[in-house]
Amino acid sequence: MREAALQSPGNGTQQGIADRLARWANRLSAKAEDPVEEPASARTPAGKTFSREVDRRRQLYQDIGAFLFAHDLDLTPLNFGVAQDYLTGNDHGIEKAVAAVLAERGKITNGWVESVVANGPNKDVSADTLHEMLNKVENNLTQITGIVVESRDSAKDYGAALQEQVRDLSEEAKAEPVLARLIGLTRTMVEKTRQVEAQMRDSAKQTKALQQSLETARRAAEQDHLTGLPNRRAFEATLTAETLKAQNDREPISVAFCDIDHFKLVNDTHGHETGDRVLKFVSGLLAKISGDKCHVARHGGEEFVMLFRGKTASEACELVDAARADLATRNLVNRSTGERMDRITFSAGVANVLAYDDPRAALKAADRALYLAKEHGRNRVYLAAEVEP
Ligand code: GH3
Ligand code: MG
Ligand code: MG
Repeated sequence: MREAALQSPGNGTQQGIADRLARWANRLSAKAEDPVEEPASARTPAGKTFSREVDRRRQLYQDIGAFLFAHDLDLTPLNFGVAQDYLTGNDHGIEKAVAAVLAERGKITNGWVESVVANGPNKDVSADTLHEMLNKVENNLTQITGIVVESRDSAKDYGAALQEQVRDLSEEAKAEPVLARLIGLTRTMVEKTRQVEAQMRDSAKQTKALQQSLETARRAAEQDHLTGLPNRRAFEATLTAETLKAQNDREPISVAFCDIDHFKLVNDTHGHETGDRVLKFVSGLLAKISGDKCHVARHGGEEFVMLFRGKTASEACELVDAARADLATRNLVNRSTGERMDRITFSAGVANVLAYDDPRAALKAADRALYLAKEHGRNRVYLAAEVEP
């Protein structure tokens, strides 16, 4: 099984895997370097096209390959996915589980990957869980509607039977047997009503509990659990909504993309836990700017995005730069060892949202400006070159 997974045409060795990865990487970069992706503002003076995204993906491919070799893992989609989640920090649960097992045993195996993927550890609310909860609420509502209809029908039947008995009463004037039948009928109706009432109460209770968990789940699905900031998905929804408002109100709106500098080094030097604390610290610092018109979110890993409504790109640039300067003057200490840490800085790119076709294009432009900020030495904030609206 393991050998089969390792086999590539004509070569079942690790060299075969290396060749295959290299081919993938080549294909990937060839595709991503499509000139359509890169507007003039993202070219070097020498005309060489570059993209932070392409570099990043190429590097990621190499890192994933190295990780799989280092742990002698089969080249399966499962192992590939876990390696990717670990190296990018996309799935914090996986990242933590891998870091923990590496610290404990120094190695991960095919079996361990299978079990971690099968059993968690990601307890985040997935889209599937949300969907399942919504289905349950929907079923409950259908059930309640059914009970209401049933109860209405019973009342109608009771009314009709009652009417019939009253008719019999006046026609036959034999009160006693008719009354006995009426009493029986009423008793049945009372019992039925009681049952329906109990069912309705149960259903209402269940629906309320489900609605509450749904609300919690919805909130959790939009929040980054390490920093407590909104996540990328929530940010994108806010960005779309705020862009529309800004357009209607003829207000400026800007976005910023921030990325902590050499963050991998922080993890490598001080460990993942300390890295997590640095992330929380930086997110707290950025969140200080947030308010009604400024939204800060964790885009993923050590990257944050910010949205400024009512601010031009250069005003937003100043705000982000003030946060950058603030962070750069902090003396952070590794709480676990008491050791003083090297200065933590971030770089950022800022773009005017309304200068682009859509908010996503503006975010991309901010990311390109961030790339240049990194290229030119880090710990700086760059304004994106605007394309014609
Ligand atoms: P650059 O200045 O070019 O941005 O370099 P960098 O080292 O910051 O960038 P790189 O993309 O090479 O590394 C980012 C690292 O961030 C790798 C990943 O392990 C780490 N990371 C991502 N998410 C988390 C997290 O939730 N906690 C911790 N501790 N580390 C994380
Ligand atoms: Mg990054
Ligand atoms: Mg970084």
